[in-house]
Amino acid sequence: MNTAFISLGSNIGDRFSYLQDAIEMLTSNKKINMVNYSSVYETDPVGYEDQDRFLNMVIQVDTELSPYELLETCLAAEQELGRKRLIKWGPRTIDLDILLYNQENIESEKLTVPHPRIQERAFVMIPLLEIKPDITLPAMDMPLRILAEEIPDKKGVQIWKRKNGEDAFALFES
Ligand code: ATP
Ligand code: CA
Ligand code: CA
Repeated sequence: MNTAFISLGSNIGDRFSYLQDAIEMLTSNKKINMVNYSSVYETDPVGYEDQDRFLNMVIQVDTELSPYELLETCLAAEQELGRKRLIKWGPRTIDLDILLYNQENIESEKLTVPHPRIQERAFVMIPLLEIKPDITLPAMDMPLRILAEEIPDKKGVQIWKRKNGEDAFALFES
């Protein structure tokens, strides 16, 4: 069994429904089981700023899929949820990125793991560290938590729906 962390992001339409639908699609695959998930955060757009704010979260899954099969499953779910690629880092119904797959380093045309921009993105690191505060990236001797202390745009990442809060979202619990 393999462990993967996947980041989810949406900034078009009913953003929360897109997160829920994507999780539903991924976990309807018998070879993907949800282990944990973060709170949902509302975040300022990064990279291309003239667009609406995002909802972002991270999930941890156990999977029998290979990294490439997992990527294909993510891309298929994006497709199903109407993802269009018009502007680099532009608006999207749903974005599913594989952050980590075990402690593997993968570098190919289609897939780079760990995701190469984890360390520059507060909207990825904050939910990832919420799930696993002691996480370390492969080939890195410092815990991500230490690197995250340096990130400048933390204030652009605000809690939107807290896990286990009063408004805990039961749908993710199943
Ligand atoms: P970014 O990668 O900077 O977050 P993005 O998510 O907007 O940008 P996309 O257009 O969603 O980029 O993805 C383009 C391609 O990136 C995908 O088709 C996929 O083949 C490739 N890719 C490489 N590594 C990964 C990864 N770890 N997770 C998801 N896609 C990846
Ligand atoms: Ca992305
Ligand atoms: Ca992506």
